[in-house]
Amino acid sequence: MERIPFHRPLITGREVEFLEEVFARGQFGGDGHFTGLAESLLRELTGANSVLLTSSCTAALAMSALLLELGPGDDVIMPAWTFPSTASAFMATGARPVFVDIAPDTLCLSLPEVIRAITPRTKAIVVVHYGGGMADIAELIDIAKERKLHVIEDAAQSLLTTQDSRHAGTFGDLGAISFHSTKNIHCGEGGALLVNNPALQERAEWMRNKGTNRRDFLKGKVHQYEWRTVFAPSMPSELSAAFLCAQLETVQEVTETRRAIWVRYDAEIGQHLKKAGINTLSANKTTQHNGHMYPLLMQDSVARKNFCAQLASRGIEVTGHYLPLHRSPAGKGLSSKKLPITDHVADGIVRLPLWPGLSSQAVDRIIDAVRDTTAIQRIKTR
Ligand SMILES: *Cc1c(COP(=O)(O)O)cnc(C)c1O
Repeated sequence: MERIPFHRPLITGREVEFLEEVFARGQFGGDGHFTGLAESLLRELTGANSVLLTSSCTAALAMSALLLELGPGDDVIMPAWTFPSTASAFMATGARPVFVDIAPDTLCLSLPEVIRAITPRTKAIVVVHYGGGMADIAELIDIAKERKLHVIEDAAQSLLTTQDSRHAGTFGDLGAISFHSTKNIHCGEGGALLVNNPALQERAEWMRNKGTNRRDFLKGKVHQYEWRTVFAPSMPSELSAAFLCAQLETVQEVTETRRAIWVRYDAEIGQHLKKAGINTLSANKTTQHNGHMYPLLMQDSVARKNFCAQLASRGIEVTGHYLPLHRSPAGKGLSSKKLPITDHVADGIVRLPLWPGLSSQAVDRIIDAVRDTTAIQRIKTR
């Protein structure tokens, strides 16, 4: 029985060709041909006005904290149901994360909880578009505007996810995307910052260029470049950018393939799971997700352990994830507030394998295994 891994990093087949072109061109440092190409492809794909390629999504988030000058005395509202970088990036400049619970339908920030958490110290809201879905972003932007708060979108997992045809990452002042090898498309380690607030544009370029206006120099606008601001460690090399370009060429196709697997899971096991008392994500009706993940919410950690063990015995690797930030060693002291939905999701979530190379026979095997396993489970919980 062949093992089905949870994830396999995408390889499109043209990466080496693009890397050879970097050798031929001879520019290896950042902000060259492929950096520009990746940025313009990303602008076209997302409709963003300004895109800066970065060395990771973490770097893009760290740039956001510096660009918005968030520091000691400033509170930043965010979910605890996320990857640590969401919080670390803002703590690094001295700001304080304020964890808020998530909504059970999207697993993204709960808007009533956001409103309740706002105080005079609040300066910004970081919204995480979880799992390739999207938060109720238009409403969140209204809440923030009314109170003059900045919005940063952690769209690490949500490239090409849209709500009312507008792309994740293009609503807030800034949006951060990840090209880590665990995401839909990747370059090993990489990311992008979408700069939607034009007032931040120039400093964002300087910061990405190690605090200098080297980009103006490369464009021939100035005859020597100067130190203009503090830097954020964020410039990717042309090697990363070239690899990413080979992936960006195929991103629409890759997203469609992922969505098709997601749709199969939902059609063939969604109802079945609900009858067994296991929820799946019901995305906001106006959201078109990017097929990043198909999560199941088991009743508790015991049910999850049983479920994962049974799938593992059939050669299928499924995983939970995120020790939520308020329960992590570095985040424990930050918040005394209860986050019941975050806790429940963290204990019960399971993610099924979902990647474009998954054959339809493999998907059949996963669907069969989930059906058999949940049937057993239902008998047990009665
Ligand atoms: C993957 C991820 C990150 C970090 O991305 P890197 O590119 O690895 O820095 C941040 N936030 C979320 C929600 C993620 O899923």
